[in-house]
Amino acid sequence: MAGAEIIGKEEIKEVMDVLETGVLFRYGFDNERKGIFKVREFEEAFAKYCSAGYALGVTSGSAALKVALTAMDVGPGDEVIVPAFTFVATYEAVLEVGAIPVMADIDGSLNLDPDDIEAKITPFTKAVIPVHMCGAPARIDKIVEVAKKNNLMVLEDNAQGCGGTYKGKYLGTFGDMGIFSFDYVKTITTGEGGMVVTDNIDLYNRSDWYHDHGHDHNPNVGRAMEGRSILGSNFRMGELQGAVGLAQLRRLDYVIAEQKKNKAVIKEALSKVDGLKFRDIPDPDGDSATFLGFNLPDAGLTKKIQKALSDEGIGTVLFKENLWHYVPNWEHLLSQSTANSKKYPFTNPMYKGKADYSRASIPKAEDILGRTLFMQIFVNMSEEKMKSIIDGIEKVSKML
Ligand SMILES: *Cc1c(COP(=O)(O)O)cnc(C)c1O
Repeated sequence: MAGAEIIGKEEIKEVMDVLETGVLFRYGFDNERKGIFKVREFEEAFAKYCSAGYALGVTSGSAALKVALTAMDVGPGDEVIVPAFTFVATYEAVLEVGAIPVMADIDGSLNLDPDDIEAKITPFTKAVIPVHMCGAPARIDKIVEVAKKNNLMVLEDNAQGCGGTYKGKYLGTFGDMGIFSFDYVKTITTGEGGMVVTDNIDLYNRSDWYHDHGHDHNPNVGRAMEGRSILGSNFRMGELQGAVGLAQLRRLDYVIAEQKKNKAVIKEALSKVDGLKFRDIPDPDGDSATFLGFNLPDAGLTKKIQKALSDEGIGTVLFKENLWHYVPNWEHLLSQSTANSKKYPFTNPMYKGKADYSRASIPKAEDILGRTLFMQIFVNMSEEKMKSIIDGIEKVSKML
């Protein structure tokens, strides 16, 4: 829940700045807005925070994925490699731009396995989307290296790893583009919202145009007279979202630091459980610590421990059985039930490939995800709460 747990005075102040002018729109109304540009300010602060060249605020993480893929000119006939373990939005966005998601395996980091990318490349592959799941980095340096070697673009889906790093560099800034989500359960929230980042001015410009009906945002003319070179749509972030985002971003480091503290305490307790191993995090310093992942030697024992923890009031997620984060469980994707009755883009004659979503093509995910449990880490965890978790874990470990 992270950022949502700490909404308070700072967010109220930022939002009131906007309400006092009454200008809820990010562009124009220069006289009425009295110099208040919250979305712009949020974008600038966000780009600075993660050392990205450009940042563009949009309406959601899902919108950010669509905007970025469009900017990268991914479209009909193209394939995009996406890990089997991710939120469904990553696959939906690829289909939304008319391309086909190709499912790839994960490694011990539980993120895209760089060693599986080449096996999934076809003549139609245009891009790769590594996803930093549950707050921790993929082996992103290796992923970028394999992608570059094969002339593929990289879009990092960092919806879940805001503020996370790998070897000191912010997640989301390794690829050609990166996206973030600020929905209500992400590391920082604007209610709904998202961000697109890139160092490439052309990719930024295409994102900027597409997200606002092609408007070129020429500062020297009024909105009605702006030029355009492509058609677009509307994925503009509003000023109220920008205001909340500014306040949240200022406390992102606090959020992560508190989560890290809480995570370390629970990790210590879990380390006494026989046979338990922690999720392999390629750079533990860069973990945003929103989740604690651990695995057991086999799936049967994993379920037994999940049940025992649950009896102690400790909730965990077994993502292999989760309906929203593991491709083999998406019956609508498997039956090509896109949002149109023609099953486009699977049925597009421009598409010459054949995507394989079989469990057999992702053996590591099938194995590791089936014996991995995730515990959510919160910013605010009272001493009482921590004690009850630790006592519960101790009880479970004695039971084994
Ligand atoms: C949340 C999420 C998204 C979508 O973000 P929204 O802001 O909810 O649209 C995309 N990818 C991943 C991995 C996510 O967790």
